[in-house]
Amino acid sequence: MQRERISDNVFWFQSDIYAQVTAGVIVGPQWSVLIDTLAMPDETLAMRSFIEDDLRAPVRYIINTHSHADHSWGNCFFPGATIIGHAICRSNMLENETAALEESSKHNPALKNVKIIAPHITLRNGTLTLKVGKKTLNIFASDGHSDDGISILIEEDRVLFAGDAFLPLPYIVNGDLHKNVATLQMYHNLTLENIIQGHGDIILRGEIDAAIENNITYLTAIETYIEDHADSMSIQEIITEASIEEFGKERILLGGLVDSLHKRNLVFLYQKCQNQHHKEKDIAPL
Ligand SMILES: [Zn+2]
Repeated sequence: MQRERISDNVFWFQSDIYAQVTAGVIVGPQWSVLIDTLAMPDETLAMRSFIEDDLRAPVRYIINTHSHADHSWGNCFFPGATIIGHAICRSNMLENETAALEESSKHNPALKNVKIIAPHITLRNGTLTLKVGKKTLNIFASDGHSDDGISILIEEDRVLFAGDAFLPLPYIVNGDLHKNVATLQMYHNLTLENIIQGHGDIILRGEIDAAIENNITYLTAIETYIEDHADSMSIQEIITEASIEEFGKERILLGGLVDSLHKRNLVFLYQKCQNQHHKEKDIAPL
């Protein structure tokens, strides 16, 4: 697990074993706020021991940026903590994640002590504010990657924890491309020092505008490409033709994982487009 100090009392963690997934902690005088857990129990426990033994600030709150396993399944390792998340994150965890854990733990003994703990405090609209020491955390919805995304802005430091709404390559399968674009545009107005992506490296001040633009351009371009070609090409042809480089991204990001994320984005949009066309054909002309 990688660890870095971002600003006074703010630390960032990144997994060495699962898709460079990230988490963070904001440390107060007596207790701390954790943003997400890591994918595998061993790394979550290593993070806990740093926070509780070295920093001596037990975790009182965990904010889950969304419900996906790699960000939320470690909640159970902080039994005294109150969990905060989107209202839909709560229902997703109680339903989808509980079923997914049951399935995954059959094949992965590392998950045997994992239990799903859904958010106790939820929000849907507006901003929830949490004070920890001298820091103010503004927590607000930011969907697109998923329907239950939230971001956390550390007001004094202008550091944004974006969860998977910001990734080296936007990933919108089972999410909503337009909502992800709207979230990215909203980030543009926040005057940020850092963006902490749900996976990958910290984005620094000088890189932020270009990184946001690059992700918006990518999303807009894949949508246009699919709309223009879904009628005349098969999905196999599209996957061969529409390489990740065509859309301004490098395939080496996230240890090469982004190439398969890109292909899955194309398949998702293609299927959506096909369904839409079928629906339109079903409507009888007046
Ligand atoms: Zn993730």
